[in-house]
Amino acid sequence: MEIEKEMKKVTLGHEFGAGAACLKCKDKCEGFELHFWRKICRNCKCGLTEHNVSMNSEENKKVGKLFEDTKYTGLIAKLKTDGIPGYQGNMVTITLPSPTTAYTVSVTYEWAPPVANKHLVMRYIELLPPEKRPVAGSEGAAYRRQQMDRQLPEHDQDPSKCHELSPAEVKQMQQYVRKCKDEALGVGDVMLPEEMAQFQAGGQGAAAVGGGSGGSGLGPKSCHHCKKPMLLGEPAVYAERAGYDKLWHPACFVCCTCSELLVDMIYFWKKGQMYCGRHYGDSEKPRCAGCDELIFSNEYTQAEGQNWHLKHFCCFDCDCILAGETYVMEKDKPICKPCYMKNYAVKCTSCQKAVEPEAQRVSYGEHHWHAEPDCFRCSGCTKCLVGQRFMAVKNCLFCSVECKKKVMA
Ligand SMILES: [Zn+2]
Ligand SMILES: [Zn+2]
Ligand SMILES: [Zn+2]
Ligand SMILES: [Zn+2]
Ligand SMILES: [Zn+2]
Ligand SMILES: [Zn+2]
Ligand SMILES: [Zn+2]
Ligand SMILES: [Zn+2]
Repeated sequence: MEIEKEMKKVTLGHEFGAGAACLKCKDKCEGFELHFWRKICRNCKCGLTEHNVSMNSEENKKVGKLFEDTKYTGLIAKLKTDGIPGYQGNMVTITLPSPTTAYTVSVTYEWAPPVANKHLVMRYIELLPPEKRPVAGSEGAAYRRQQMDRQLPEHDQDPSKCHELSPAEVKQMQQYVRKCKDEALGVGDVMLPEEMAQFQAGGQGAAAVGGGSGGSGLGPKSCHHCKKPMLLGEPAVYAERAGYDKLWHPACFVCCTCSELLVDMIYFWKKGQMYCGRHYGDSEKPRCAGCDELIFSNEYTQAEGQNWHLKHFCCFDCDCILAGETYVMEKDKPICKPCYMKNYAVKCTSCQKAVEPEAQRVSYGEHHWHAEPDCFRCSGCTKCLVGQRFMAVKNCLFCSVECKKKVMA
């Protein structure tokens, strides 16, 4: 008894977020408890970020891990010591004199581009849709958090976050991660187009810059995403992997698959397109619809238009393995027959028993019947109505007006 208690404590201690309340399900969830291989709460089936946990340090760790061992490591290190006021982890507080009063205005962002020019940072954020601006404590900050979780799954980068990989799968995954860091991963840079022109002109004197108004010969550039012109004096996003001849409006720096703003400007560039981490992964490997991990084994199941680890094609309610079993799809989740009968099946209006998933049934409005002579029959003369014309009045069926009159009278 004592030992059991002790062990439980230890397990809970290691489980990040354990016991946190679910913000979506409120008291319907007893507190976050990680499922043993799905990336969701065992109690309410929501994700960790739907629960009341502070993700800051976890996010910093995750992003750190993503850029570990890449040529961007130096960049990240530089960002942290650049003397940007109040910069700690992702948080930035910017204080500027208010243009209209004698006071100063101070805004805290959960994340802001690591640029020394505070006015440029503020303008960059103003150019984002209001509901996506990462102002601390706002809807935009919640959006960023949710996208951090969605776009950059930890289990796409870190074999230790995956469930029971074989040594061969670990090796495959390491090769995949190496490839993605070498070929695709990057962070956007925020710059003024005219600054970039100057930067690219490089050592060849500043002659081209003097004029300022369209003298460069290249003309105004257009956004790689929306093709509309970029404005001088407005910040643009550049991506080293794409080449500095391409640029984006801040609000246009989005994933080509989910169209979401690339969280913290972390991108994956492939064949002329910008991806978030999740959709880059999906473009390279099948993803298991059970555990959400990329599949690195050659053997997997394809069912219902989705991919599954062999051992993860399981009932969403009780986790029993479904290979070779009867199952029913409920909201894109496979459910075993016993769970279906218990939790989802409709009841036959006539015999009051649950209708098996494979049974023939007749539905009319909110009512359902076994398509059998015993259940789907006239309430007057008991004639079987399968394949016949019928009238339905509340939960009664009739073959004719005569039978209806007889019963309803
Ligand atoms: Zn929940
Ligand atoms: Zn929960
Ligand atoms: Zn654009
Ligand atoms: Zn995406
Ligand atoms: Zn899986
Ligand atoms: Zn089940
Ligand atoms: Zn029935
Ligand atoms: Zn009848």
